[in-house]
Amino acid sequence: MPPERPSSAYPECVTRLIEEFGRLPGIGRRSAERLAFFVLKSNELDAMRLAQAVIDVKRRIRHCSTCWNLTDADPCPICRSEGRDASTVLVVEQPKDLISLEQTGMYRGVYHVLMGRLDPLEGVGADSLTLKDLVRRVSDPAANARGIAVREVILGMNPDMEGESTGLQVGAEMARLGVRVTRLARGLPAGGQIEYASKAVLADAIECRQEL
Ligand SMILES: [Zn+2]
Repeated sequence: MPPERPSSAYPECVTRLIEEFGRLPGIGRRSAERLAFFVLKSNELDAMRLAQAVIDVKRRIRHCSTCWNLTDADPCPICRSEGRDASTVLVVEQPKDLISLEQTGMYRGVYHVLMGRLDPLEGVGADSLTLKDLVRRVSDPAANARGIAVREVILGMNPDMEGESTGLQVGAEMARLGVRVTRLARGLPAGGQIEYASKAVLADAIECRQEL
């Protein structure tokens, strides 16, 4: 016999919706119920738009095969753009960091998203990141955006312990390949996160980047 579930006062599909909302980050049971009731009360068109947006994101969005940015076209618009300097690659941990840096409007190079950071305690080693794709881009212009040779790699990891050690390892690897290696200036508060830094601080960090 299947284990007995606590009976719910809600119809089955409402319970399911509450459970799905409850799985979202930062959403507790009460918030999940509030969201579910919002959907119940909204008109059918609005609810369908929400559902369709979730479906479209999962069906259409993938990672750029060059830089690992999230994109609905491969290569992504940044890697494709004639207006970007593809010889300069800013390495970040997550797509969210790329978005924050991009919003400053200060950076004209391209990016490489590592898809994480080194965290030996959590079992995240270099193999779990996209470091080997970065190595390939730097070693072979054909693997970089628009086939242009990489001359400078800027380290844009978060200024905390894991970010620092990730930056050191990526920097050492890049230096071995003979490219110029710089890192974002320390205007970023130690222990802070790129994702939440103000535009001014990020713009400054790009402008005043330092040789590693
Ligand atoms: Zn790209």
